[in-house]
Amino acid sequence: MAFDYDLFTIGAGSGGVAASRRAAAHGARVAIAEDRRIGGTCVLRGCVPKKLLVYGTHFAEELEDARGYGWTVERARLDWGALVAAKDRETDRLHGIYAKLLAGSGVAVHEGRARIVAANTVEVAGRRVTARHILVATGGRPERLAIPGAELAIDSDQALDLRELPRRVAILGGGYIAVEFAGIFRAAGAEVTQVIRADRVLRGFDDECRAHLQAEMARKGVRFLAGAEAARIERVAGGLRLELRDGSALEVDEVMMATGRRPNTAGLGLEEAGVTLNKAGAIAVDEWQATTAPGIHAIGDVTDRINLTPVAIAEGRGLAATLFDGNPTRMDHSCVASAVFSQPPLGTVGLSEEAAAAQCGAVDVYTALFRPMKHALSGREERTLMKLVVERASQVVVGAHMVGADAPEIIQALAIAVKARLTKRDFDRTVAVHPTAAEEFVLMREPTRRT
Ligand code: NDP
Repeated sequence: MAFDYDLFTIGAGSGGVAASRRAAAHGARVAIAEDRRIGGTCVLRGCVPKKLLVYGTHFAEELEDARGYGWTVERARLDWGALVAAKDRETDRLHGIYAKLLAGSGVAVHEGRARIVAANTVEVAGRRVTARHILVATGGRPERLAIPGAELAIDSDQALDLRELPRRVAILGGGYIAVEFAGIFRAAGAEVTQVIRADRVLRGFDDECRAHLQAEMARKGVRFLAGAEAARIERVAGGLRLELRDGSALEVDEVMMATGRRPNTAGLGLEEAGVTLNKAGAIAVDEWQATTAPGIHAIGDVTDRINLTPVAIAEGRGLAATLFDGNPTRMDHSCVASAVFSQPPLGTVGLSEEAAAAQCGAVDVYTALFRPMKHALSGREERTLMKLVVERASQVVVGAHMVGADAPEIIQALAIAVKARLTKRDFDRTVAVHPTAAEEFVLMREPTRRT
């Protein structure tokens, strides 16, 4: 059977665009469908605009710190509306670049919502198109708690577009998105209360780093209500009233729900096509990104594995190599570094101390907790935490973690060493770059503890 295309991709986010462009570069005839703007979560509603707001709000601390270095900083104040408008200009620019890149690579763009209607057949904007392979790269979206008044809350999409800075914000959840927005709103000057059902933020990360980050956020003025859950939200004269399950309540201007994201699988015709969803509602795929239906593949957040842009991109490019370059490529999901752009930020690669103790047996843990040199003059009390987790038997560094300024940048470089399974001895024989904070990673002599 002759198909209209070799590959039809549903969803023009980072993963779908990368897979499509790479497939076209391998000579495939490719089309992509998008029902919102080209660019996807990362570029338009996630990583990029979020990071611009982190940069924009963190100046508050830089300005305070400058005083200790002799600067007089008078009447500095943030125009939140101007920051959001500047952020919008940049995401518009990136959207344009994405669209141009797609057009330039020969990928046909179909605007509208695509649905799989038969084997190798997709319907989009009332037209049926056939393709040898279909790729689902539809990502995810914020999920709201099912509580009375949930519609009064904002999610991360709306939090990025607030035209005015709320004076008092409650943030529900303790994941990446929750801690990042707590940092943004707090640094911008809002009163922030973070409501977490566990005792600590960032479940799954290294426990010591979680505790350290939470303490540093608290020092900056974020109020944590731990072991707490939202019961209802009501509009009251002065704003919103958030009632918790224990009956207590707080009054705020905005409630932000950051209690997780859900894969975008509805209305795509997946189940009729024989695509199995897992318990969490994500598309089940094998290591080749193949679903249970022949000819249908899935990558990125819609598969809910490691929900990070560079992972979706790697999965997409690997799939393009497998299908169109005669180069079968499996995605290696091990040892993927990531960063949380909280204030201060957190960077991590490899195993937490807890995971290493469970998986590697005996572990040597090296830690450094110090006040960065910059704060000798700024007077800021903030401490940086660095941590190496070493498998005792092999002396391989199986995890590296950091909470403190520049952690994301530093962890990116360290990730190469951890991915390459270098040993503690390799770290020890690396000469420090002085004076930096990062040098502490090669200067940790004695284990802080052996487990
Ligand atoms: P996460 O899954 O990371 O966090 C969800 C949070 O909501 C957890 O703290 C969880 O609590 C809490 N929660 C879930 N259900 C409930 C409930 N019913 N009541 C109260 N609390 C609840 O989701 P995010 O939305 O923050 O992020 C989604 C994904 O997006 C991340 O996993 C990450 O992969 C990606 N991301 C990456 C970023 C980066 O790389 N910097 C930035 C933003 C997102 P508990 O811990 O108790 O389960």
